[in-house]
Amino acid sequence: MTFQNGLKAGNTITNTALARMFKCATQGGMRRSHRTNSLVIVSDHTKHIHQDRWVSSDLIHYTGMGLKGDQSLDYRQNKTLLETRTNGVEPYLFEVYDPGQYLFRGRVKLAGSPFKECRPDVDGKPRTVWVFPLQVVGADASFVVPEKLLASKQDRNRRWARHLSDQDLFAMVVHANRTPGAGHAGSLDGENSACVAEFARRRSNGVCQLCDRTAPFCNKMNEPYLELHHIRALGQGGADTIANTVALCPNCHKKMHVLNLSEDRKKLKREAHKNCCQLTIDGGITYI
Ligand SMILES: [Zn+2]
Ligand SMILES: [Zn+2]
Repeated sequence: MTFQNGLKAGNTITNTALARMFKCATQGGMRRSHRTNSLVIVSDHTKHIHQDRWVSSDLIHYTGMGLKGDQSLDYRQNKTLLETRTNGVEPYLFEVYDPGQYLFRGRVKLAGSPFKECRPDVDGKPRTVWVFPLQVVGADASFVVPEKLLASKQDRNRRWARHLSDQDLFAMVVHANRTPGAGHAGSLDGENSACVAEFARRRSNGVCQLCDRTAPFCNKMNEPYLELHHIRALGQGGADTIANTVALCPNCHKKMHVLNLSEDRKKLKREAHKNCCQLTIDGGITYI
């Protein structure tokens, strides 16, 4: 029987109310409750280690439990979530965009097999995480997160990426690459995307990567003004990685969008591939 919590997608409750309602713990990304036979799953966008991402409006790729070292499917609630098809436990998803505000997204189900990705752990070291594809079920699937919340999340990610050391930023963009064949190339969500943008900005050092001239003016924070450009557009299957992202002056950016000359693309590819080569977990060299 479905656990009747009375919540609808878009309702926001406090952590205390959530714990009381589901009779679960007040901490943790996944909270099992034996009393309500539910598993509360929290995707907390205000924390920067669990990098969950929405791949469509009702499907999220949720990163499993375990902050350090390789994650395991046998570990605590990773196992509970994996077995939800047969164990009768009902998973419910909440998102946190503002600290302490738990936004209900609905009941979810495992929409496919979990898969592995390489991600940095809390110390920036590469490790394997398990990613669970979770789909919202029922009427709650049509809920759309308000623009205001998404914008504040992007803003927070941007500011967070700005404060990373060069080393940590590099670890993020290098180790956050996708597992080939996982079937979801393309745009990255949230932090990864913010890190790629920040990396491209720092690498350019205030100089346009096409015309090699200094940025024409500074923004209000007195930083050289350059615009980010994807050599192969995201909409055409281009990846949101440092090998596909460059920083251009507004003039050159317009030129790329109006003319997109192959000689310019070649030059940008050369520029973007600097610093892109790195060892992957299985020891091979990859370009990201
Ligand atoms: Zn330029
Ligand atoms: Zn562009």
